[in-house]
Amino acid sequence: MLYPTIGLEMHAELLTQSKVFCTCSAAFGGEPNTRCCPVCSGMPGTLPVLNRRAVEYIVKAGYVLNCDISRFTKWDRKNYFYPDLPKAYQISQMPRPVCLGGYVDIVSEGEEKRIRINRIHLEEDAGKLIHDDASGETLADYNRCGIPLIEIVTEPDFHSAADVTAFVEKMRLLLQYAGICDGRMEQGSLRCDVNISLAEKGAKELGTRAEIKNINSVRAIGRAIEYEIYRQTELIENGEKVIQETRRFSDSTGETSAMRSKEDAQDYRYFPDPDIPPVIFTEEELEEIRLSIPEMPEKRKERYVSEYGISPADADTLINNRHVCLFFEEAAKAYDNPRNVANFILVELMRRINTGEADMDDLPFTAADLARLVELGDTDKINKSCCKDVLRTMLETGKKPDVICEEENLWIKEDLGAAEAVIDKILADNPKVVEQYRNGEQKVFGFLMGQANKQLKGAATPKAVKELLEKKLGS
Ligand code: ZN
Ligand code: MN
Repeated sequence: MLYPTIGLEMHAELLTQSKVFCTCSAAFGGEPNTRCCPVCSGMPGTLPVLNRRAVEYIVKAGYVLNCDISRFTKWDRKNYFYPDLPKAYQISQMPRPVCLGGYVDIVSEGEEKRIRINRIHLEEDAGKLIHDDASGETLADYNRCGIPLIEIVTEPDFHSAADVTAFVEKMRLLLQYAGICDGRMEQGSLRCDVNISLAEKGAKELGTRAEIKNINSVRAIGRAIEYEIYRQTELIENGEKVIQETRRFSDSTGETSAMRSKEDAQDYRYFPDPDIPPVIFTEEELEEIRLSIPEMPEKRKERYVSEYGISPADADTLINNRHVCLFFEEAAKAYDNPRNVANFILVELMRRINTGEADMDDLPFTAADLARLVELGDTDKINKSCCKDVLRTMLETGKKPDVICEEENLWIKEDLGAAEAVIDKILADNPKVVEQYRNGEQKVFGFLMGQANKQLKGAATPKAVKELLEKKLGS
């Protein structure tokens, strides 16, 4: 029985303002070749200067992924010629990366697994080539040259597509919460190379591996692995050999195809980069960086469950989207009832987001506004059933909940005289129900409450209606 073994190399672009060795903007996009300078476009005689913030971010990544941080770290030149790399070498790290070792725990198909990290190093991104199939031309955009990149290399601890996709999802979340990468795979700020080989289960040596380069969605990663397991199984079972090579995955065909034979490390002729001095960390510097790391999603989840009494499933939904999670925390600060705030976000707000009526990145109101709405419902300022409609109006107009309640006349006015008259009439109209209740059938009380609330339309709070009704029924 053939058994797959998979290792990953993940590249994550760091969220720094400027590039890793010059002051050009590191933002995504821009008109082609407008964010370049002599340093990042590789002109001879220029001097790169290391971005401190990028170093800080890779150290954060190291702590989040339980790595050892090298107290002494240095940079090397990785030599290769490719049109997206005008210097003909990439500044990277070979023997002394910033982070060594480490691990991440994942849950794959209901089972807990620990994935070991081999290393994380800091390097520069290359440019982007745009191939125009129609004209046969290739254009080069060097805006991406020099954007700081961390490469996270795992041990070959994965054995299925599900293991890998669970890991990638988790990594994306961790890097987002740490504030060091936006995790936008569709923009290429998080990319994955997958090394995969097959061997008999329990075999001492791994099979020959193929590497699938730069897969840019979680779904595509899963599909590429499934396809590669199928392809290599066919080869081996037909007595053919798997070739060590780099392959690319096509989203449209769902298949991988050969790109080039795979280089080994010696092909890159790594040597120390004489332009970048080594970095030596003091314990104080490392401690300062460690303490600046925001609370990670698992810790938040624990807190929501133990302190707020939110169910583990709901807590998971909250933390699985950093945007939603931070919005929730801000709202819970504005109105101290985290359970009700969470519930309203998970049910009402998420429903609007899932239908596309609202966009979490572009809400027309603040977390405090949403908190206020929940509070208005909780404290009987407005009828709870109105909250949904107020939320819709908030989404449409961006108006404050208090303004909407005023304009739409939603305030509960607590007119007890009117409430009494309505209740008297209900009791008179339903003599049989009243008799049932007096004979001890408690459950009909709910029916009477429902009638009263419906007809009162917010003229009194549910609490006042209940008290009045109980008084009239003489209970
Ligand atoms: Zn530059
Ligand atoms: Mn790399």
